[in-house]
Amino acid sequence: MVAVLTDDVVLVDHHCHGVVAEDLDRPGFEALLVEGSVVRDPFGSLLGLAVRRWCAPRLGLAAHASPEEYLARRRALGWRHVTRTLLGAAGVGTWLMDTGVGTLTEPEEFAELCAGQAREVLRLEAVAESVAAGGVAAAEFATAVERELRTRIATGVVGLKSIVAYRSGLRLPAEPPAEDEVRAAAGAWLRWGDSRLESPVLLSWLAHLGARLGAEYSLPLQMHTGFGDDELRLHQADPLLLTDFLTATRASGVRIALLHCWPYQRNAGYLAHVFPHVLVDVGLAVPYLGDRSGVVIAELLELAPFDSVCYSSDGYGLPELHYLAALLWRRGLGQLIDTWIADGTVTVGDAERIVAGIASGNACRAYGLTAPE
Ligand SMILES: [Zn+2]
Repeated sequence: MVAVLTDDVVLVDHHCHGVVAEDLDRPGFEALLVEGSVVRDPFGSLLGLAVRRWCAPRLGLAAHASPEEYLARRRALGWRHVTRTLLGAAGVGTWLMDTGVGTLTEPEEFAELCAGQAREVLRLEAVAESVAAGGVAAAEFATAVERELRTRIATGVVGLKSIVAYRSGLRLPAEPPAEDEVRAAAGAWLRWGDSRLESPVLLSWLAHLGARLGAEYSLPLQMHTGFGDDELRLHQADPLLLTDFLTATRASGVRIALLHCWPYQRNAGYLAHVFPHVLVDVGLAVPYLGDRSGVVIAELLELAPFDSVCYSSDGYGLPELHYLAALLWRRGLGQLIDTWIADGTVTVGDAERIVAGIASGNACRAYGLTAPE
């Protein structure tokens, strides 16, 4: 059998976060191995099994080492060594990092640890919240946020990111709210709200602003959809809820990247099928689903055009997640494509082109990156 997705295929990880730059005790490690805030036996899951099976040998242990052995080894080696080892083994040349969460490594330090390139993706809500925290009049709010976004974009970010799914959900209107509505909502938030932006009017306005600036600067707008932590109302994160927003933006020139998507990967695949400006991935789900991740990749590819699919890990905090995502994605997609070749569904040459696009080519085109080596 011919295997087209070998370890030589270098990936672009188009959405991830930094790692925790310190040694973790067991509760600290386990808290980053689950998306919920209550930790219940994180090693008793497909992700836990994957850590023991695949990460343990990278740290010089036998496959399936116990959690105690694994964590002791991790502490003995130190977080820097572990991070270098696991990120180096992921086979990723370029990492696009959402920097909207504090306390993790920034792109410069991450690039030094991974010996690759790290570029920044700018989180819209974090910028709006920083403008509000800096003190601004309601009447100036919209202008000040747009000015700050343009300033940050000029520093060389490669994409924008919206977490509206976490706040008011993905049912965005086709049109942005009117100026006076934005002013009134900004007034209420700045007067009465806490630092977290929750206003549906302002969040809708911000998502539309992100799409407008994305079109103007040729920056894809990443949108969290599907699986996430327990702040999320998952039913409000179904990407199908974006249908009006996607219809409204399809001719604007912006690319919209639907991140994560699980358990709505088939819905996301449908959106990529009908909207030519949509990109999709199943990051985050891939490491968490362990050996089941191949099923999710196959369901995404039922309808998603091959040139709409990107690779991402959504690795956050633990380099184990960045590494496992790459490994499990290679296994899942590799096994699927090998079956297609064996069945005569696709030629080896076409399979190689499909894999190269999903591994890096589609992301390079969308984000204006040079191909990783
Ligand atoms: Zn993320």
